[in-house]
Amino acid sequence: MTLQTNGIHHITAFARDPQANVDFYASILGLRLVKRTINFDAPEVYHLYFGNEAGSPGTIITFFPWPNSRKGSVGGGQVGATVYAVPKGALPYWEQRLTGFGIEVGRATRFSETYLQFTDNEGLRLELVEREEGAESAWSFGGIPPERAIKGFGGAVLFSTNPQKTMQTLERLLGFEKIAEDAEYARFRSSGDIGNIVDVPLAAMDRGRDGAGTVHHIAWRAQDFEQHEHWRGKVAEYGYHPTPIVDRQYFHALYFRESGGILFEIATDPPGFARDEPFEALGEKLMLPEWFEPHRDQIEANLLPIRVREVEGSGS
Ligand code: ZN
Repeated sequence: MTLQTNGIHHITAFARDPQANVDFYASILGLRLVKRTINFDAPEVYHLYFGNEAGSPGTIITFFPWPNSRKGSVGGGQVGATVYAVPKGALPYWEQRLTGFGIEVGRATRFSETYLQFTDNEGLRLELVEREEGAESAWSFGGIPPERAIKGFGGAVLFSTNPQKTMQTLERLLGFEKIAEDAEYARFRSSGDIGNIVDVPLAAMDRGRDGAGTVHHIAWRAQDFEQHEHWRGKVAEYGYHPTPIVDRQYFHALYFRESGGILFEIATDPPGFARDEPFEALGEKLMLPEWFEPHRDQIEANLLPIRVREVEGSGS
């Protein structure tokens, strides 16, 4: 069976203040908070998911906001930049909007594409790039016109402690195709039309340190549960040590650390976020898996309250 991922399923990062996290991703970037739940391994911490209107694979960024946790440092063995795709012609709008919120914006070029570079409130590195491909988001917030709204991930930049091995893993295990290389980066592409471009700096990087402002892991898409089982075999055959498959409520997951130090996950497209609440109400209530329901009162009492709200800026 030939297995190829369609690209990024989701990216999970650390944060500290949950309300500041919601303000940044929902109010400033205009993403939809598609799920508010808890870290199933640490129920005193939220797990927040932001994406397009449905939280489609390729659009989802997730956070564990851990108040008072340590700050991380970006480096090898991590996703070095999370790239969002916006429609053609939208970069000047975003530059003005972000600046209006007091966010410092830089510009960079890779493979003839212009990137707006900035960080979130914790220092997580983000980029915006204009792309033709990928459906326009049907969700926008904070007065962002739909034709300017973030569509989902354009891709990611992977900081590796062993770029040759990481690049081999992308090609030989995950089925990415190498489409370009210059003096600094190699570029890989998957068959999907969102979350599909991965750039890898050719120079090995010293290890970063996990903590607020860094990415914990990047998940790649598997089409369905059956394919997911095959992925597990393929990962093991390749020489990595995949975890057992775990049910994450909204997808099934397996994890392995690739040779460049980055924690990779493979996650299934189904069942998605409408599994336990209606599409219209996604993200409005705290959702718990059934084994936590008996403890709901206690869990809620331990969490800081959050809400999706308009925040003030002068750039939009
Ligand atoms: Zn994950």
